[in-house]
Amino acid sequence: MGRAFVYVVLGGGVAAGYAALEFARRGGYSRGELCIISEEVAPYERPALSKGYLLPEDPSRLPKFHTCVGANDELLTTKWYKEQGIELVLGTRVISADVRRKTLLTATGETISYKTLIIATGARALKLEEFGISGSDAANICYLRNLEDADKLVNAMSSCSGGNAVVIGGGYIGMECAAALVTNKIKVTMVFPEKHCMGRLFTPKIAEFYEKYYAAKGVVFVKGTAVKSLEVSDGKVAAAILRDGRRLPADMVVVGIGARANTGLFDGQLAMERGGIKVNGRMQTSDAAVYAVGDVAAFPVALLGGDVRRFEHVDCARRTARRAIEAILEPSGGAAEEGKAFGYLPYFYSRVFALSWQFYGDNAGEAVHFGDFSPPVAGGKPKFGACWVSGGRVAGAFIEGGSPEENEAMASAVRSRAAIADLAAELGSRGLGFADEE
Ligand code: FAD
Ligand code: NDP
Repeated sequence: MGRAFVYVVLGGGVAAGYAALEFARRGGYSRGELCIISEEVAPYERPALSKGYLLPEDPSRLPKFHTCVGANDELLTTKWYKEQGIELVLGTRVISADVRRKTLLTATGETISYKTLIIATGARALKLEEFGISGSDAANICYLRNLEDADKLVNAMSSCSGGNAVVIGGGYIGMECAAALVTNKIKVTMVFPEKHCMGRLFTPKIAEFYEKYYAAKGVVFVKGTAVKSLEVSDGKVAAAILRDGRRLPADMVVVGIGARANTGLFDGQLAMERGGIKVNGRMQTSDAAVYAVGDVAAFPVALLGGDVRRFEHVDCARRTARRAIEAILEPSGGAAEEGKAFGYLPYFYSRVFALSWQFYGDNAGEAVHFGDFSPPVAGGKPKFGACWVSGGRVAGAFIEGGSPEENEAMASAVRSRAAIADLAAELGSRGLGFADEE
């Protein structure tokens, strides 16, 4: 049994949703020519799972956060796909791909063929087992990648109000879930091997602010060590045993120890780089009929001198998806002209408690801090940040508590690689002087 499409989007997450909207806007297909295959439901804004979805009061639920509401754009419900003539093949896992034959095989035994394939398979959460620790199947251990995980986390939280949670990992999932747990009245201990949280992005000074803020909310940080094993009894984790011998009692555990791009279907068939599928500035892989977008795509970034990078962030998923569809439907358009590297400004953000930060560019070079890092007094909003300076020019910028105008000013300083002196003057005029201790 089999079906044939002109365009197939493999994976139905953030990038797939934005690709669908771009296809519809450009009208570059006829009814029944385009399909999205996904293990999950219709594309949704994944970031909601660690934020609105976990709120104790009035939590966000589908269909509210289907794509593309995260970019203040249309809400694409299953009805929308139907109206647009886009076939949704949901709850369906693709188990193998043959790039030479242009076919995909699903777990239900169906062969789906394409003329053009857009790979949008995203990433998966790393499991503790990959670090030699068993116990991931315990009833009270939670990962967070998809709706099923989020529901398990919500249930675990509701059955352990007032109890203890151990959060393993001090990255994005760790920080956002710790905040959600506290908001749900659960006591949190965070364990991670680095010296400070968000070790790959934050400077020690930035991390110190967030760690103090979290500590004031009752979060305990156990840094510089890792979990060695989990004590499981009756199918539930009772405690986490650390490498330094400590035992942390746990009513539930949340694990956020990194992600891996879902490239496995294409190993040995497409060129790979940086743990992802290598594409050019048009998101085209080493096979001209295959494109890759989102978490899975490693592409040359014009702003970084054409350096090939892969980003596991939602803005990148949205923009690479639009970029690929533009390149597919308008092969001699703008995307072709700057085909070598994509003019993308890397952008990451997070929101926890009453805080909100944004980062633009690359955290390469020397960090120069600005603003007030002291803990906010009751009701006050902190405002501070850092610029990474390389060769006297701004390579990256981080800002906590920025207004939309300030965030845009930071973004444009990075985009234009502004001279640091000009940015210092600009910030000074907004009352955000540079720290003088660096
Ligand atoms: P995904 O959204 O992961 O979608 C991939 C889809 O492909 C999934 O539906 C998956 O089931 C499907 N799939 C994979 N393999 C197959 C297969 N073989 N067959 C069928 N289907 C398959 N980024 C930010 O910038 N800000 C945030 O605040 C933020 N919050 C996040 C919160 C959470 C909890 C998580 C997990 C991520 C968050 N991110 C955030 C990252 C962001 O969500 C990802 O970068 C983004 O979802 C990537 O989009 P994607 O389409 O490439 O992959
Ligand atoms: P991250 O890579 O952000 O963080 C993983 C953290 O776990 C790192 O601090 C890592 O340290 C640490 N770690 C690694 N191994 C262990 C271990 N054995 N024990 C304890 N800690 C360990 O991944 P996350 O899991 O937090 O996030 C998963 C994905 O979700 C990522 O793609 C992320 O981008 C995305 N996400 C993004 C959000 C956002 O942009 N706001 C929000 C939520 C998720 P080290 O650095 O030393 O390896």
